[in-house]
Amino acid sequence: MNKNVDERQQAIRDEVKAFAEKEMYPISRELDEMPEPRKFPRELYRKLGDAGYIGFVMPSEYEGQGKSSLEYITSVEELCYHDAAIGLLAAVAELATHPIIHFGNDEQKKKYVPDCAMGRRIPAFVLTEPNAGSDAASLTTTAVETDDGYVINGEKTFIMHGDVADLGVVFCKIEGKPKLSAIIVETDQPGWEARTLRNKMGMRAATTGHILLKDVKAPKENLLGEVGRGFRYAMSTLDSARVGVAAQGVGIAQRALDESIAYAKKRIAFGAPIAKLQAIQWMIADMAVRTEAARALTYKAAMMQDRGEKFSVEAAMAKLYASEAANFCVDRAMQIHGGYGFIGEFTQIEKLYRDQRVLEIYEGTSEVQRLVIAGNVIGR
Ligand SMILES: Cc1cc2nc3c(=O)[nH]c(=O)nc-3n(C[C@H](O)[C@H](O)[C@H](O)COP(=O)(O)OP(=O)(O)OC[C@H]3O[C@@H](n4cnc5c(N)ncnc54)[C@H](O)[C@@H]3O)c2cc1C
Repeated sequence: MNKNVDERQQAIRDEVKAFAEKEMYPISRELDEMPEPRKFPRELYRKLGDAGYIGFVMPSEYEGQGKSSLEYITSVEELCYHDAAIGLLAAVAELATHPIIHFGNDEQKKKYVPDCAMGRRIPAFVLTEPNAGSDAASLTTTAVETDDGYVINGEKTFIMHGDVADLGVVFCKIEGKPKLSAIIVETDQPGWEARTLRNKMGMRAATTGHILLKDVKAPKENLLGEVGRGFRYAMSTLDSARVGVAAQGVGIAQRALDESIAYAKKRIAFGAPIAKLQAIQWMIADMAVRTEAARALTYKAAMMQDRGEKFSVEAAMAKLYASEAANFCVDRAMQIHGGYGFIGEFTQIEKLYRDQRVLEIYEGTSEVQRLVIAGNVIGR
């Protein structure tokens, strides 16, 4: 791994490595290859919570670890180095709890954040709909205000942990108000119907759900922040989450690089290790450069977030670059490994290939990141 890190980051890397060796590697393959319908790994999720990785960046007053964004993304990078799908389990909790921590009131935080931080309850970030992905503002889930609270109807899809969540931050339009609002919904309410999506290409340890909301009730006190501010809350949450996705990309890219170097040194062709071939060396050099550049952009965005600066554009740059760097590095790693890369029985490369692909899709596609960046550098 990169040696040029400060001591706190190195300590996090060492701790995650020890956790990975004890808790992740023994079940990594089993989780990836689990037959359908997949089961959410609750025991591992609790262990991630007990070890502090679920609540790593959540405030310590709510049972989180109170770490900085830079420390958090170091933990995500390292978890994803060892198994990206397991790293995603922790990252989803941050995504889904972020709106409550940043836009919720004290009662909401006290009620929901400690359990989410410790992995006792599973939260979900419930924005995307079958007909509203990139264009989130066009979503059609509605909430009708009654004397008792809200009655919510709609359909959501691609929701990480949506199939098993105990609570969801549901983005919807309150009747009579054209702009999005956000409501915390407890999923044991009648009318919340969720199923696990099947045949997911990668990131299989973390399940993804499709949700029908049929007259689901939420009390008035579960409105998050103010009516009509939901889009802003969602975008602000995604800014933060994009730095996390960038960290997932850095971890995957580094793993692909390390695996490739090790393999190139031991694989003999034409009487010498393939690492002696310039064709292989150049691929490894390109991978090393992209991994370091992705890391630098990711750390920069995290440090800006820690300093309280506006970091939306830097988050988009980091997410765009690191997800494409992961794609590049895993593709080159497969080339370097030849047939042993393509057949998952022999190496990690086939799993890395499947796991990395979604990084360019979720939490804003690469095209959407380019829109954000261009809008900023060119001006609208
Ligand atoms: C595994 C997984 C987990 C996810 N987890 C969550 C979650 O926890 N919560 C949640 O709410 N959502 C989640 N999502 C949804 C994800 O954020 C969306 O899939 C993503 O935002 C893209 O939306 P879409 O799939 O509807 O594609 P579309 O928006 O239909 O886009 C299709 C294509 O058109 C392009 N496109 C769209 N608009 C433009 C434009 N203006 N300019 C240029 N190109 C454009 C896109 O980039 C893409 O290439 C998840 C998705 C996946 C696959």
